Amino acid sequence: MSAPATTSALEVRGLTKRFGGVVAVDGCSFRAPLGQVTGLIGPNGAGKSTAIDLISGFKLPDSGTVLFKGMALQGLPPHRISRLGLMRTFQSPREWPGLTVLENVVMARWDSGRESFVGGLLGLRGAQRNTAADELSRAREILDEFGLLALRNERAGNLSGGQKRLLEFARIRMAAPELVILDEPMGGVNPVLGERMALAIEAFIAAGTSVIVVEHNLPFIKRVTEHVIVMAQGAVIAEGSFDSLRSNQDVVDAYLGEMVT
Ligand code: ADP
Ligand code: MG
Repeated sequence: MSAPATTSALEVRGLTKRFGGVVAVDGCSFRAPLGQVTGLIGPNGAGKSTAIDLISGFKLPDSGTVLFKGMALQGLPPHRISRLGLMRTFQSPREWPGLTVLENVVMARWDSGRESFVGGLLGLRGAQRNTAADELSRAREILDEFGLLALRNERAGNLSGGQKRLLEFARIRMAAPELVILDEPMGGVNPVLGERMALAIEAFIAAGTSVIVVEHNLPFIKRVTEHVIVMAQGAVIAEGSFDSLRSNQDVVDAYLGEMVT
């Protein structure tokens, strides 16, 4: 069975989610191109995080469709969606606090459905043991890339906020999903890490992971994205290159409330 040909990593059609009287996401539709970095921006309360929750199965939409690899994700729980190759991060980094940094990275593979690591640990077959050794060495290599190798035996819960972000990026590198959605990766992070994160995003793309990134840091959005989608009041109000949006009056107006407060 072959998947239908598509040039979208993700397509969202008419997503809607109400919380009581609040329409958090209101007929939101967009496509994120395959093999590119798509920015998702908009003022606080625009519905960006809720849209991510709907896409990744953490909340159920009232209506609308999410197509990933041409397949409707309707009703699938988060772990099934991540095993299909769609990962997401949260505004606050989430790690396994009691596990070591190295274990966290190795688990990223297991989380995304490659259970060979666990099979290898059980020692049932030589080939599986080799796989486990390969995965450990791959995890060390990735930690080195992110400057976290010296911390590999530290409990992840003891890391600083910035280090937890880097660990999250290392986990994405390890899992190598087809699409990752990053929710405000620069939030609370020392700007020095920004360049490292931008390079990591380039590495995701080089490894075949398409990226959607929600971020308030507009220089970062300009630096890393090829295409930007602007949300306001639950819907998409504009899209295009970052530079084309700066001269778009609707976009400037949507941001104004935030800029003057
Ligand atoms: P953004 O990520 O763009 O800042 P959110 O998706 O967090 O926006 O929020 C969109 C709107 O939905 C806001 O008005 C917010 O207060 C509301 N909202 C989000 N989550 C909930 C919830 N669990 N219950 C009630 N209202 C919510
Ligand atoms: Mg948000």
